[in-house]
Amino acid sequence: ATALALARRTEQRLLKADREQQQMQQRLMEAGKLAAIGELAAGVAHEINNPLAIMMENAGWIQDLLKSDDPHSQENTEEIFSSLQTIATQGHRCREITHKLLSFARKPDTTTKAVRINPLLEDIAGFARQKAKYRNVEIRLNLDPQAGDVESSSTEIQQIILNLINNAIDAIEKEGGLVQLRSTREENFVRIDVEDNGPGIPGDILPNIFEPFFTTKAAGKGTGLGLSICRDILARMGGSISVESVLGQGSVFHVRLPLPPGT
Ligand code: ADP
Repeated sequence: ATALALARRTEQRLLKADREQQQMQQRLMEAGKLAAIGELAAGVAHEINNPLAIMMENAGWIQDLLKSDDPHSQENTEEIFSSLQTIATQGHRCREITHKLLSFARKPDTTTKAVRINPLLEDIAGFARQKAKYRNVEIRLNLDPQAGDVESSSTEIQQIILNLINNAIDAIEKEGGLVQLRSTREENFVRIDVEDNGPGIPGDILPNIFEPFFTTKAAGKGTGLGLSICRDILARMGGSISVESVLGQGSVFHVRLPLPPGT
């Protein structure tokens, strides 16, 4: 009886440990995403500063004009209208930027629907260019009109590709950095390539980069979760991720997404 009780207690303890490990992994996944969002947020704050300064300047200008001797003269009225127009335009620009950030920060939307790959990649490139600009990295698109479309979650595909682009930008140290985003069709898959001309990945660490927590980045910069999350999501989608890299020349990550049957 005691042996049985002991076995049962051990089993329960193991189950509890399992559960705790799962919860921990879940939390770390969230943490990885938070780190990515933090990085994006810094870029967004930077990007929004400029329009904000312009809006405040124009608001001040309108106040000055209204306080002038003849605020209703034709010239002043025109100035006021044009300043208001500038404020509206810059406001829209800010809203666009915050919307993009929010759509990334939201809980991952795993619902699947028809996803048009090329327009999605164009969107992602536009978004990534904001970060790339400050690092002097060019993002180039090379889209095959025949690449095909998938039944999937666009939020998750976006998360994967952004992650790869961020890694590529982080890796590039020299001037003339270039990240190429390609789409092609490969048998029953759409293949998306994210290629950089960075330093490449040494052969001895190449087999490890998809492992959770493997990072070569400085403490506080890398979580080592990016690629392992990409691999997990893709496995769940029936897709895959692989990498080729040449030291001194760069790396290319291949993402394969299954095409719906019959396409
Ligand atoms: P993190 O970016 O937090 O380090 P990842 O799982 O995304 O975590 O990446 C793991 C490691 O793989 C990185 O620390 C880096 O050493 C390597 N790596 C990923 N992408 C590239 C790349 N494009 N060029 C060179 N090294 C890369």
